Amino acid sequence: MPVYEYYCSRCETKFELLRSMDRADAPAPCPSCQSADVKRVISRFLSFSKGDSGATVPLGADGCGGCAATSCSSCGK
Ligand SMILES: [Zn+2]
Repeated sequence: MPVYEYYCSRCETKFELLRSMDRADAPAPCPSCQSADVKRVISRFLSFSKGDSGATVPLGADGCGGCAATSCSSCGK
């Protein structure tokens, strides 16, 4: 079962959940503040294996999290 990363924009916490692929986009309440304002972060591993261009850019991530490069136009850095 894959691990998905989520980012809470309310308390700026990143957390991981182990869930099946069909549940990856299901709402995941933040474990710290219980906020539902949580975005899924595309992990580097998944962005490599998926290869589609619809990946979301993770908020608050270091570097170029969406594509695993140090800089690229899609991440705006
Ligand atoms: Zn939170």
